[in-house]
Amino acid sequence: MNTIEKDILKVLISEAELKARVREIGGQIAMDYENKDPLFVGVLRGSFMFFADLMRVCPIPCGLDFLAASSYKNATVSSGVVKIDYDIRSNIAGRHIILVEDILDSGNTLYNLAGHLRDRGAASVALCVLLDKPARREKPIQPNYVGFTVPDEFVVGYGLDYADRYRNLPYVGVLKPEVYA
Ligand code: 5GP
Ligand code: MG
Repeated sequence: MNTIEKDILKVLISEAELKARVREIGGQIAMDYENKDPLFVGVLRGSFMFFADLMRVCPIPCGLDFLAASSYKNATVSSGVVKIDYDIRSNIAGRHIILVEDILDSGNTLYNLAGHLRDRGAASVALCVLLDKPARREKPIQPNYVGFTVPDEFVVGYGLDYADRYRNLPYVGVLKPEVYA
């Protein structure tokens, strides 16, 4: 059978490790937000798997919403400008937001999205990322919840893509170099 597994060089974070860590984060958020009725906001599309698993292990009253963003990579502009392709539909004035993203890399995406949500009147905006790649940070940004810190390698799986593939891998891995060639 033609599967995506054949393109994987190595598994970085296994299914069991993901499951255990997501459960820990869900428990931590449940304690921190027990009586705050938080609104989980998932950044599409990379966060979808983490988002769904996280919500399943966070048994407190809460809401959810999504947004989608893309970053302009312009040769003449070095600072990453982020465009919101799809915005949340909820009224967030006074709400406690937990912004859920797949990976924190340069920080441009979350820095801009958090600002956008604060501008719309959120009472607080916490950042919850599955992966943190601190080596490439450009913005002063500190995530509140981090699943795993990863080295400066391009990773795929568990929601993260390469050319829109590999999002359906149940673990986080690194692609074989020939896949990029
Ligand atoms: P930032 O704005 O923090 O530089 O980038 C965040 C976005 O870049 C993530 O949402 C993700 O889409 C993409 N990204 C950064 N590093 C990786 C990586 O190692 N693998 C994948 N698949 N996407 C990445
Ligand atoms: Mg993304």
